[in-house]
Amino acid sequence: MRKTLLQQILMPAVSSLTPFKSWQYLKEMCAADFEPLDVQRGRREELLAEVLSFAYDETELYREKLDSIGISPQAAAQSDIFPRVSATTKQDLRTGFPARQLARSYRSAWLRYSNTSGTSGYPLQLIQDLQDICYKYAAILRSRMVAGVDPLGLQVRITPNECQPFVPEKAGRIGGDCSKLMPGRHAAFFKLLERQVLNRWFHRRYMLDPFWRHAAKGQGVDYSSYIKEIDRLRPDLLVIYPLYALLLAKHMRRTGTPAPRIRGIIDFSGGLCTPNVREFISQSFGVRTSQCCGGCEFSRYGASCEADPDRMHLAETHCYVETVHSDGSACEPGELGNLLVTNLHGRAMPIIRLESGDVGRIVEEPCECGRLSRRIEHAGRIQGMILNADGQWVASREIEQELLLVQGMELFQLVQQSPDQYELHVIPEPGERIDEAAVDQSLGRLLGASARIKKVRQATIHPEASWKLMLVKSNTFEEFRVASARRGKVPIN
Ligand SMILES: [Zn+2]
Repeated sequence: MRKTLLQQILMPAVSSLTPFKSWQYLKEMCAADFEPLDVQRGRREELLAEVLSFAYDETELYREKLDSIGISPQAAAQSDIFPRVSATTKQDLRTGFPARQLARSYRSAWLRYSNTSGTSGYPLQLIQDLQDICYKYAAILRSRMVAGVDPLGLQVRITPNECQPFVPEKAGRIGGDCSKLMPGRHAAFFKLLERQVLNRWFHRRYMLDPFWRHAAKGQGVDYSSYIKEIDRLRPDLLVIYPLYALLLAKHMRRTGTPAPRIRGIIDFSGGLCTPNVREFISQSFGVRTSQCCGGCEFSRYGASCEADPDRMHLAETHCYVETVHSDGSACEPGELGNLLVTNLHGRAMPIIRLESGDVGRIVEEPCECGRLSRRIEHAGRIQGMILNADGQWVASREIEQELLLVQGMELFQLVQQSPDQYELHVIPEPGERIDEAAVDQSLGRLLGASARIKKVRQATIHPEASWKLMLVKSNTFEEFRVASARRGKVPIN
């Protein structure tokens, strides 16, 4: 009854009578997925030209960027010229915030302020206009449509960090003369709307605390309480950080605890799941899984479908995703590269060619599900890209695929100290013996025969400032980074 009311009456009515057009955008995004690739590409190029022209006219950041290479925004929108525009780093979004990034004509508009904590702990602040917010929400709903589930079902979320709305009256902390630029009264509206109305009554979203947040020092996570709570709520969608799901699945196997009841699927968010771990989680919980990718700057720009649970269909009319080599040139389809992402609809604070900090491959072959949008095969964070002693690049995803399900292994953390020296922190499963031979064989194959690996047993690994776990920490990844971002020696997050 609730779903019918929402989908048939309320959402279409809100979309046609108010500026909250998410439902209309959702329909358009879903239809675009089935259009031929060249039609999707043409539409994307039109949107790119619009956002480039706007950003050039309205913001200092992008005017300087284009002027520095002497290219007009109209020329920059052409697909062979666009890669010459330097990548935007997260530091570019912080320096001089908000004066350099906030579009002039939006300075008195209704704006939502959102912040997020990166892996390294530097907060990033974002400003979103109403249309951008509606596209972002539509992109989340689209990810559920692609995954083949009800977009408005009951959700339980257990993720390390969330993009939180904030009111910029505390702008003094941000620095600069923000008083004229930050109309706090409107930002407060969005915060109140989300926290008190939408999350509770509309989204039916239940947020559980990240793992380890309340665990006493030296003590583990109470997995049973999470399993009981999921079971009590019986969600349509368990939105969960993949490593949490893996730890819950291992706990269930070890203790014989039955899986919690989930009506729909598990939706991996905030991190990547390797195919073997995905299979193990799916079998342990007895439900299908889907994978999404994105970030606070974009919401979700990729989502997997029922036919292919590991690769994600790109929302081509929402964001433009490129893969580039470290010299900035475009990768061929199937080639591993840095992901640069452009938000095609954000106007208050345009985001163009942002170094997302992720690596992956884009594939163009059509999918069995019938969607023709390009798909992305994500390979993890760039800080996990290891250049091994044989001169080969190894992505964190490959190492996780090899080690996470080794007999007796609860978790691990591989820290590269020099091109051929590593420390492997090993967290054994309680009461289990680790299959050391399997670990040695896998690492020898991935890191090269000359790699020296010191193993250290630990009781736990500590999450990063974002509450995520970095299982692979490389000290050679900078060479993989796109050069225009690397030159400034700026952190990725
Ligand atoms: Zn598909």
